[in-house]
Amino acid sequence: MDSKLFIYNTLTRTKEKFEPLHPPLVGLYVCGPTVYSDVHLGNCRTFVMFDLIYRYLLHLGYKVRYVRNITDAGHLEGDMDEGDDKFAKKARLEQLEPMEIVQKYTLGFHDVMRLFNALPPGIEPTATGHIIEQIEMVKQIIENGYAYEVNGTVYFDVEKYCKEFNYTILTNRQLDDLLENTRELGGQNEKRGRLDFALWIKAKPEHIMQWPSPWGTGFPGWHIECSAMSSKYLGNSFDIHGGGMDLAATHHTNEIAQSQACNRVQPAKYWMHTNMLTVNGTRMSKSKGNGFLPYELFTGSHNLLKRGYSPMSVRFFMLQAHYRSTLDFSNEALEASDKGFKRLINAYGLLNKLNPSPKSDIDLKSLIQRCYAAMNDDFNSPVLIAELFEAVHIINSIYDEKIAATLSDIEGLNKLMKDFVIDVLGLKEESNQTDDLGKLLDFIINLRSEAKVSKDYATSDKIRIGLNSIGIQLKDNKEGTTWSKM
Ligand code: AMP
Ligand code: ZN
Repeated sequence: MDSKLFIYNTLTRTKEKFEPLHPPLVGLYVCGPTVYSDVHLGNCRTFVMFDLIYRYLLHLGYKVRYVRNITDAGHLEGDMDEGDDKFAKKARLEQLEPMEIVQKYTLGFHDVMRLFNALPPGIEPTATGHIIEQIEMVKQIIENGYAYEVNGTVYFDVEKYCKEFNYTILTNRQLDDLLENTRELGGQNEKRGRLDFALWIKAKPEHIMQWPSPWGTGFPGWHIECSAMSSKYLGNSFDIHGGGMDLAATHHTNEIAQSQACNRVQPAKYWMHTNMLTVNGTRMSKSKGNGFLPYELFTGSHNLLKRGYSPMSVRFFMLQAHYRSTLDFSNEALEASDKGFKRLINAYGLLNKLNPSPKSDIDLKSLIQRCYAAMNDDFNSPVLIAELFEAVHIINSIYDEKIAATLSDIEGLNKLMKDFVIDVLGLKEESNQTDDLGKLLDFIINLRSEAKVSKDYATSDKIRIGLNSIGIQLKDNKEGTTWSKM
């Protein structure tokens, strides 16, 4: 398969022609959410962007094995293997079991992804479901000489690794700067080097989630889960590894080190990173407390919002920025996206109402080529959307009979819109449920009025009582009949 797709590879800092290791198969691993709280809109941006990437690879005909993990253990509050376990802390706060916390926020995450019309991954492995694989990997890293155990905790030996490999290969940072900027910590004395990180952590007695291991009871460090699960399902070397940009410096840097130390190969050929969603220029994050929850956006209940926006308008808002650019949240931008999305989807709805003509005023072939060129250029969705607005302009002009199109033009436009708007961008028509209910009740109220006019009081009463039983109350007055929910 010879695709013209180019991907920006964080590892080489260049756009490279996409050449999968085993075409037409493509292995795609994306770091999933840490399910101790609701996902915020920033997290959603990353997952929606990888949904776009997944969808386009499928559209090109690749057979993609898409793995996105769920982090449900091993996350400490500090970034240096210290602090409270996030799951245990939340469990205490909500008076639930840690696994109830995991279940609650995993279900919530799935609901949100469904609302955003994101395709589910083929495999969604959890950290707690792969403790054995993680222990095996830690054992191998120790055996290969790149990790050491101190008092029930196993650390990765970064200094030893640096003698043979480039530890900062992903971010190109200077090791000296990194050392200078790394704090000394209380627990640091266990570590041989300042940059060493935990592969396995000894559990304190009160720690709820703990497992037996060759080093005593404990739990895995955060980074090892992705190394263990990606190699289990995609092999030691696979095609694409992705996540948000904030993961590159630590989580992904350590993943590469672990996989190299264990398997002696670079785990992924292409590393892809999405840029951040920001609010007034500051990164949206759980810890900063500036995170919008998706439902606050849909209902408009957040105090920074002028009104609610539908999931598809928000998805469109995200798609209007390239995945490697920052995207700043604002009411104005959302308002514009809402209008843009409606224009696009309305034009899609007009396609079956167009009248074909024997002559053609349009050059569809070049438009289709430009759409592919946009996506082949590192998944450039904003340029694709600009091209699709060209298609919208054409569709509206044919509808208004300002230009002519043949039957095959119209079929071609239909395919273009279906391929790119529905399949690749993952947008779909949305029905406004309140509007739909209103229209349905207006229709029923009309039927009832007609029954009353023809003195069929039995039917009119049956409708009123029937609606009553499902919580809808009708009120007759001089102007007619109104309804309300009881
Ligand atoms: P977490 O649940 O914190 O592990 O994050 C899940 C994913 O969301 C990771 O890939 C993060 O890099 C990503 N992420 C976190 N904050 C943002 C943000 N403000 N914008 C875009 N992606 C983000
Ligand atoms: Zn990960």
